Amino acid sequence: NKQVLLANRPHGWVHESDFNIVETDVPAIKDGEVLVKNLYLSLDPYMRGRMNEGKSYAASAQINDVMVGGTVGVVVESKNPAFQVDDNVLGYFGWQLYGISDGKGLQKINVTDQIPASTYLGALGMPGLTAWVGLISIGQPKAGETVVVSAASGAVGSVVGQLAKARGCRVVGIAGGKAKCEYVVKELGFDSCVDYKAGHLVEDLTAATPDGIDVYFENVGGEILEAVLDRLNAHARIPLCGFVSQYNATQPHAVRNFGALLINRVKLQGFIVGEHSDLFPQAFQELGQLVSSGKLKYRETIAEGIDDAPRAFIGMLKGENQGKQLVKLA
Ligand code: NDP
Repeated sequence: NKQVLLANRPHGWVHESDFNIVETDVPAIKDGEVLVKNLYLSLDPYMRGRMNEGKSYAASAQINDVMVGGTVGVVVESKNPAFQVDDNVLGYFGWQLYGISDGKGLQKINVTDQIPASTYLGALGMPGLTAWVGLISIGQPKAGETVVVSAASGAVGSVVGQLAKARGCRVVGIAGGKAKCEYVVKELGFDSCVDYKAGHLVEDLTAATPDGIDVYFENVGGEILEAVLDRLNAHARIPLCGFVSQYNATQPHAVRNFGALLINRVKLQGFIVGEHSDLFPQAFQELGQLVSSGKLKYRETIAEGIDDAPRAFIGMLKGENQGKQLVKLA
């Protein structure tokens, strides 16, 4: 087996030296257990938080722990009657080539030509469910309203915008760079996309949202949040999903115009997708239909091999990914 361990707690930006790659034996499985060969590892922004010490919604990783993460794989040995060799499974084995499970939390997945295994880590997986839960249950978009989403070309943002479009909203993305913005409009079908790196965020966002903003799906925080707060309509809703611009910051960005929430009687709700599993069947049904019919577009950036996982993770936090960031393990 090969594993990526947490070697140091980064202060500020993550470096490849904060990880340690080790080779270990694959232990023999006991009665009731299955051995899974992981095919893909998901790299997600929340993993940066696990590298820190301190209060969060989930426990920190300890030094020398295997980095956590969602995986899809194939059962290669089974002493558990619920799983057969060759079953495709979604698990949470982390940054390693093989994982052992007693079956709890391990989910069989149906891999087809239209639904490749990797989509269970992206559009049909945790990021897709996050988009659905935040937008539909908290954002409650109505036809004709303006929905803005940041990190718009990413795993979560790309699904948010397409779900909002399907509900008849005017959809505006915010993304870094011309290429990402072009993709968001031309491929994903958003009405408009603001390139926050172009140097005139406030002007461009104002031009793209002539009727103000009714729903802001927040993925990044910082200056983008400030620009959006100035464009909110009365009774706007903000599903607060992530703050990726702040995860490596040593000085937190102080938001100057929080009063906009009061003036506009805004509903802002932070959420963690895992606490909304009651909504997963409904979300999964819609997302599954959209993915298998080809209506929901998505992109993947796939790093080759576990040795490349640290570099790919840092790249994703810097915006080098196009859509869902994965690592191909086998
Ligand atoms: P993405 O695929 O969107 O990748 C991260 C993206 O963040 C980068 O591609 C980059 O896009 C953008 N980014 C990085 N730094 C900045 C910055 N300083 N300012 C603006 N954008 C930046 O990741 P995900 O879709 O997986 O995650 C998106 C957000 O959703 C994250 O904040 C994540 O923590 C959150 N999340 C929350 C969950 C929950 O349960 N609450 C569950 C899953 C995700 P660009 O090039 O456009 O800058």
